Amino acid sequence: MFYTESLEKLVKELGKFPGIGPRSAQKLAFHIMKTPKEEARELAQAIIDIKEKTRYCSICNNLSEGERCAICVDPSRDKNIICVVEEPNDINAIEKTGTYKGTYHVLMGAISPLDGICPDDLKIEELIERISAGAKEVILATNPDTEGEATAMYLGKIIKPLEIKVTRIARGIPVGGNIEYTDQATLAKAMEKRGEL
Ligand code: ZN
Repeated sequence: MFYTESLEKLVKELGKFPGIGPRSAQKLAFHIMKTPKEEARELAQAIIDIKEKTRYCSICNNLSEGERCAICVDPSRDKNIICVVEEPNDINAIEKTGTYKGTYHVLMGAISPLDGICPDDLKIEELIERISAGAKEVILATNPDTEGEATAMYLGKIIKPLEIKVTRIARGIPVGGNIEYTDQATLAKAMEKRGEL
């Protein structure tokens, strides 16, 4: 092994990131090695800060620096409309369209029997509680891939008996696509043209 102990450790830690194989981990580690000390320190501090200062909103599971996220505490947001998404990053994508004025609920994933993710692993109970506490419409904005569709179908089935409007965002997002990577115009259209389940 030609690595120093600390370099080996950094490569090992970077290799734990999704999509980062051993070669990329090495490349990143060497890049950090060449980076000015102050910059490297800022990166390390940013990692510490996100763990210490950022948490999940107690209502919707969005990222937040307080108990409730900026959207949940915003009095101008319509609390009667809940848009259900898979990941906090999807909120970001929908917010960028600038057209949605309701609130969100992050499931923290999607139903995927192949990956061993069942409804109990997601924040579904919390969603039902919110709906029962008073909501007029639930928009299912899970990804249009197999897992996202399965999740939307499952949610549709359990929310419908609660007698509120359940809508699914319209097609336009490519099948197998991802909300996070959908352009703003397409996503805005999909939200606008949502259909009742
Ligand atoms: Zn929130």
